[in-house]
Amino acid sequence: METVNSLSGGKTSSYIAVHYPADYDVFALCCIDSHNAGAHIDRKMKQRVNDKLQKYCPHMPEFVATSEDPVLLKTMFDLEQKIGREIIWLRGIGWEEMLRVKKAIPNMDKRFCTTILKMQPIFEFLFMRVPLPVKMRIGFRYDEAHRVNSENTTFRFPKFAKKYKGRLVKSFNKSTVTFETYFFDWLYQWETIEWRVNEHPLVDDKIIHYAVAQYWDRQNIVFPDDSNCQNCFWKDEQQLRKNFDTNLPIMIWAAIQEHLWGNTFKEEYSLFQISEMPIQLDFTFGTGAGCQAGFCTN
Ligand code: SF4
Repeated sequence: METVNSLSGGKTSSYIAVHYPADYDVFALCCIDSHNAGAHIDRKMKQRVNDKLQKYCPHMPEFVATSEDPVLLKTMFDLEQKIGREIIWLRGIGWEEMLRVKKAIPNMDKRFCTTILKMQPIFEFLFMRVPLPVKMRIGFRYDEAHRVNSENTTFRFPKFAKKYKGRLVKSFNKSTVTFETYFFDWLYQWETIEWRVNEHPLVDDKIIHYAVAQYWDRQNIVFPDDSNCQNCFWKDEQQLRKNFDTNLPIMIWAAIQEHLWGNTFKEEYSLFQISEMPIQLDFTFGTGAGCQAGFCTN
């Protein structure tokens, strides 16, 4: 079975990349297809990211912005130099298209973003190139061992699609039916397959947060203060408030999406309301998100 390190750009999964070499090191970047959200990303960095994404995802839109802290982009390039193996950059559809397809803002009740933005590009890459299932290293530490059971190992995907022609009925009576118009749509045949066998090297080797943090303190790689999507519904309101200070273009973009779709990432407050909250000085910032699929982790 081939081994895969699923990297998130956080310290823990990067620790795995350094200490547990794999056949493939994959990194799925959550992309926003609005220039406004990427206003603070350096032009040359955008080009470097596009060069990377073009290799395996030339069918996806040009990279212009990400919902993750842009510091992570340099982190991933530096990490690649450190481990001396290629990091495979992947992306799925952008946030805007995902919101349009789902007609919703992801939140605690509708957790579709990890599957679409992170898992699907990784699944598609592996499905096309590698015999499945693969052994996938998940970045849960020994102090997060309680999360181990909540990951899934199967993926549902459309194995076959065909276009069909349908007709809309305008009127009918006992003897005649009048059709209004023809329409075309896709018919999918879905299949669920076992695509990964999860491994938890940090749980097995009893590596805790302290050991990971100590290791990176001695290295010359800068990590984002707060991993994963800056607007993530898993984050505490205070962390989201802080992210308005560190990544304003992303947070303003996210707040506008809430307005457009008439729903909010957090249950109680909209992002605009959160932006007006005072900063709580004793809050431990940078705790990040931890969605349950083993992808959006620290
Ligand atoms: S970090 Fe949060 S918002 Fe981003 S894909 Fe993961 S769960 Fe969704």
